[in-house]
Amino acid sequence: MKIETIAIHAGTKITDTHRPAVQPITLSTTFEHHNDSVIYTRAANPNRLALENVLAKLEHGQEAAAFSSGNAAGMSVFQALPSGSHVIAPDDMYHGLRHLLVDVFKGVLSVDFVDMTHPEQVEKHVKENTKLIWLETPSNPLLKISDIRAICDIAKIKDIPVVCDNTFATPVFQNPLDLGASIVMHSTTKYLGGHSDILGGALVTKHTDELWSRIRLVQTSGGAVPSPFDCYMLTRSIKTFPYRMKGHERNAVEIARFLQNHKNVEKVYYPGLKDHQGHEIAASQMSGYGGMLSFLVKGDAAYADQVIGKLKYYTNATSLGGVESLIERRAAVEGPNTKTPQNLIRLSVGLENLEDLIEDMGQALS
Ligand SMILES: *Cc1c(COP(=O)(O)O)cnc(C)c1O
Repeated sequence: MKIETIAIHAGTKITDTHRPAVQPITLSTTFEHHNDSVIYTRAANPNRLALENVLAKLEHGQEAAAFSSGNAAGMSVFQALPSGSHVIAPDDMYHGLRHLLVDVFKGVLSVDFVDMTHPEQVEKHVKENTKLIWLETPSNPLLKISDIRAICDIAKIKDIPVVCDNTFATPVFQNPLDLGASIVMHSTTKYLGGHSDILGGALVTKHTDELWSRIRLVQTSGGAVPSPFDCYMLTRSIKTFPYRMKGHERNAVEIARFLQNHKNVEKVYYPGLKDHQGHEIAASQMSGYGGMLSFLVKGDAAYADQVIGKLKYYTNATSLGGVESLIERRAAVEGPNTKTPQNLIRLSVGLENLEDLIEDMGQALS
């Protein structure tokens, strides 16, 4: 099955004798004892099983585990590690997950944040007790690209699992498990949900190994699982997800070019642009460049805020991956200690008409 077919058919697990075309929502928390795996909804639920099935197939993995948020998915990986483990993570990791590693797992895990655009930096930081290499590519908000194959090759020598946050690229454009990663992580809140109305997370594993059974234990015992309704909503959203991604990318490519040629724009960060630092590696591991981009305006924070304020079709809000275009001055969201430039604007390109989006951006920048 190709991705469009998987998206539509792999998320259905009909058990109802009436055989509806769409899987109903099973709200029951408990199930009559018989020879099925579904007994109690924290451990398993028909809607979650259906969702996990489609997620596993989308990422070419053996199994998936669905969570109540992207952070809960990430946290389950950290919780599955033996205490005292050393973790290598990117220096521009999604700030919410970085916060977990630094503050919540303080005293439990030790972390080195390294520049993953240089794989030799990863190699340099591997220790005897390194139990996890965390990858995020393209990264947030600078769209930095890490070489998944090269980093996985380094990890393989020491048998260290690599977990890749694939939220920005999505399985439409990048399959880290095919490039050597052990586990893929998603905030399904973003592109997989796609409508800015579901909070969720997921992990997909290449092999059902020891780490995976620990993660399952954390998922079902810890209980940070999505509700049947959220599973239903997400499975429904996934049906149109491959087509949405094509639209996001088509619009993003054109807006990146428009911004690059605009006199009030200093720099555009989009891996699809030939002059992007990571373009060649991106081209070798991605089949498309996605719908996220950032740019620096020629001016200060106040000018960037003024541009955002003048836009009609872009909502000034955090998050990404919805059908509506979202825009924000990223440093304002990340707080006073951020390394993100004050004049950087991050854009999640939506599915509005391209000419409308370009015209609106043009009037706001002028
Ligand atoms: C949003 C996001 C997360 C966290 O997901 P939540 O669903 O908000 O908990 C993790 N990684 C990336 C890249 C994200 O964009």
